Amino acid sequence: MISLHPVRAFVEDAHHALLERASARCDARVATLPRAMDDASGREQARALVGVLGAERLLEPIFPLDLRGCVVMREVLARVSPLADEVFALQALGTLPIFWRGSAALIERYARPALAGAMMAAFAMTEPEAGSDVASLTTSARRDGDTYVLHGSKTLISNAGIADFYVVFAKTDATAGARGISCFVVPSDAPGLHFTRAQVLSAPHPLGELSFAECRVPADHLLGAEGEGFKLGMSTLDAVRTTVGAAATGMASRALEEALAHVASRKQFGAALAEQQLVQSRLAIMAVELDAARLLVYRAAHERDSGAERVTLESAMAKLFATEAAQRIIDSALQLFGGRGVLAESVVDGLYRSIRPLRIYEGATDVQYIVIARALLRGRD
Ligand SMILES: Cc1cc2nc3c(=O)[nH]c(=O)nc-3n(C[C@H](O)[C@H](O)[C@H](O)COP(=O)(O)OP(=O)(O)OC[C@H]3O[C@@H](n4cnc5c(N)ncnc54)[C@H](O)[C@@H]3O)c2cc1C
Repeated sequence: MISLHPVRAFVEDAHHALLERASARCDARVATLPRAMDDASGREQARALVGVLGAERLLEPIFPLDLRGCVVMREVLARVSPLADEVFALQALGTLPIFWRGSAALIERYARPALAGAMMAAFAMTEPEAGSDVASLTTSARRDGDTYVLHGSKTLISNAGIADFYVVFAKTDATAGARGISCFVVPSDAPGLHFTRAQVLSAPHPLGELSFAECRVPADHLLGAEGEGFKLGMSTLDAVRTTVGAAATGMASRALEEALAHVASRKQFGAALAEQQLVQSRLAIMAVELDAARLLVYRAAHERDSGAERVTLESAMAKLFATEAAQRIIDSALQLFGGRGVLAESVVDGLYRSIRPLRIYEGATDVQYIVIARALLRGRD
């Protein structure tokens, strides 16, 4: 079970209530789903999960943004289903730019149905030659009468092929670097948009490539003004990045629970593994790292909910530490399971494969080091 006791200084009564309701609903409707063992069943289950999360009103913390509510949701979901967590995360990434910079019509047509679970969202920024260096993206968008015409390709896009709409970053001015990037809502049936291929992960997570070949979208599908896309994308990531840390701590919490139950029952050398002091030391390190990670995550979310417009430093620290610590915690849990830990059917094996991408996406660990160091060198308060 996820407990808010260790982070109680950062949350309010509403978050305790959300945790209780979300845990009960997830136990009933998400934890009971069979584990998707391949890409096709992962895609099918992800689509179904959008409806479940919407119907259970579990997407509500996304807008108006209650970051601590999103953190609670991602911990609860990632603990039982990293796939359900992915679905939640993409509904946030794909709707916040619309809520923040879209017209009332775009909000009604895309963002609200997505939060009700009737539409699936996606966020298409990464390109084959533009990953960490977002400003170097080359997908272009040219104004043509009352439409924009997009040309280019995107890779490693979550929900590619199953989303109903994509929030797409493209250059309206190829000479202006980051200031030339604009952001568009592109419905999945837009002429010229193609799902090129699925990219299959070892843990189910719908991912794939998109191409835009003279893809036309109405001009009013531009979010904000031309050239505001980079800023909008970064502020979306800035807010959501903290919740990546929460997904990590949700998975790590599950790994610690699994490990505790296992070492209490597994006997070797005439006693339960839990009696071995080196096993105890492993468990202690796991618990300390988990609490430290959660404190950083909830601190960053609390800062943001308290009115800080940018929480770049806090969210970088939270994402960096929580994802790295979760990898170590899950690895330790798997070690304690011995050979059974690496069987495909084992929960810790699923967590082991699910945690790895979190140290890469939404700003790799190395990039977070740079963000944190720059803040230190500028003189943080
Ligand atoms: C499961 C998954 C889901 C994803 N979903 C989405 C999505 O929905 N939408 C989307 O737009 N993108 C998505 N991505 C893409 C993700 O955002 C990129 O993988 C990430 O930004 C890194 O880009 P890259 O893979 O091109 O790596 P690169 O930019 O090539 O970097 C490779 C490695 O080099 C190192 N590195 C890079 N730059 C520096 C530097 N300046 N200093 C030191 N080291 C550095 C880091 O270790 C990094 O991991 C997803 C990726 C994964 C794995």
